[in-house]
Amino acid sequence: MDNFSPNMLKTFKECPKKYYFRYVQKISVPQKSAPFEKGKKIHALANYYLRGDDISKLEKTLNKDELAVWESLKSNEYFQKTYINSEYNLSCKINDYWVGGRLDALVKDDDRYYILDYKTGSIPQNPEFDFQTIVYLLAADKFLKDSKELSFVYIDLKNNTNYKIDLTGELREKYTGQITAICKQITTAHDFCKNTKCCKFCEYNKFC
Ligand code: SF4
Repeated sequence: MDNFSPNMLKTFKECPKKYYFRYVQKISVPQKSAPFEKGKKIHALANYYLRGDDISKLEKTLNKDELAVWESLKSNEYFQKTYINSEYNLSCKINDYWVGGRLDALVKDDDRYYILDYKTGSIPQNPEFDFQTIVYLLAADKFLKDSKELSFVYIDLKNNTNYKIDLTGELREKYTGQITAICKQITTAHDFCKNTKCCKFCEYNKFC
């Protein structure tokens, strides 16, 4: 049975045909990589740093822009909290469906756990109901079985701000309903229809 990642759910919502090309046919089309490179470097560095590895040599390879982003993350208030794990795969079963993904980091203080997600680009437009927020919060919530509260924090490294979402009972219920609904749509889809509103920047538009 599929383990649906936030990207799979986002892709299906954006355009079922795109989901079909990417995840059913498994057609991968090279994309421009420059913006991804900075993000990848920062994520790798953050992981080594949190694990306690010596990163002094790696820091020297950063350009001015990357170094500014890295310094901003290193001094972020949530990055100072107690480390639990990083680059951490978590999955959970929501009704009949498995969902999961890889968390950038999980940290804690006395009262609360925090899932950290660093963004070198922009944070989602509707962070409370982005599939990444939903899947990671539900998976961590099922995994962490003590009385601490749980939050998701987007660390916006472009604007040097944080966006925190606290998991409440009401949100948990809404999230469960949304995940169940979209997974059901995917697993029962016979015809992966086209959503032509977002074709302009789609990597499949040459042959769709
Ligand atoms: S080109 Fe348009 S319709 Fe085709 S997969 Fe991409 S977004 Fe969907």
